[in-house]
Amino acid sequence: MENKIRVTVWNEYVHEKEDPATIAVYPDGIHRTIKAFLDPNEDMEVRTATLDEPEQGLPDDVLNNTDVLVWWGHCAHAQVDDGLVSKVIDRVRKQGMGLIGLHSAHHSKPMKGILGATGDLMWGDNVKEVVWNMLPTHPIAEGIPAAFTLESEEIYSEPFFIPVPDEQVFTAWFEGGNVFRAGNCYYKGLGKVFYFQPGHETCRSFYNPYVQKIITNGIRWAAPVKTCIKEETPYIGQGYFGGKKESL
Ligand code: ZN
Repeated sequence: MENKIRVTVWNEYVHEKEDPATIAVYPDGIHRTIKAFLDPNEDMEVRTATLDEPEQGLPDDVLNNTDVLVWWGHCAHAQVDDGLVSKVIDRVRKQGMGLIGLHSAHHSKPMKGILGATGDLMWGDNVKEVVWNMLPTHPIAEGIPAAFTLESEEIYSEPFFIPVPDEQVFTAWFEGGNVFRAGNCYYKGLGKVFYFQPGHETCRSFYNPYVQKIITNGIRWAAPVKTCIKEETPYIGQGYFGGKKESL
């Protein structure tokens, strides 16, 4: 199949090497678990990248050949190079790369940078979660029922300090009463950003078929559209007022 979506699943890959409770759930690493459920999709070409690889897994030739970047990070956010973060944000805003932030990526440098927010939230121990479908006609909600249950997830709770999402696709309820904006879409420059909350390192959410379907749908939604607008395209103002009208 031509024109496959080139997906890079980036993971800091720390808990899965150090924490027995995480190793028990994701012995091959969260990145390989995500790649494994994405691989059967014939419209995708999936690779993984980790913080411990050269250039933190994202040298220019990888980043510049990624259509959608999936990001999982938690305890190593601060180790991610600021120059790399700038390049990721530029790829989204100026060149249309999609960015999917999973779970604790709410505090990752790329997500905070592109949303211009602290990403702070309230959190608590693992409990039962119900994910509610707020926008059934959205492409990311395709094939997802009105609600589904995750038997154990880390409580993430409002207030969640993010910009009001452009599209609110999912909201979560946690046993005990907390609620959280769990599936949030943003349009940023030429790119699209989707944040999805499930995916704590000691919980089995990445094996849940609905979570897998939502991430898969999210990648297809976030993939760049074939726009003729490029970074170097003159602005309308330049065209009319700068004597470059003929180049528009
Ligand atoms: Zn977590």
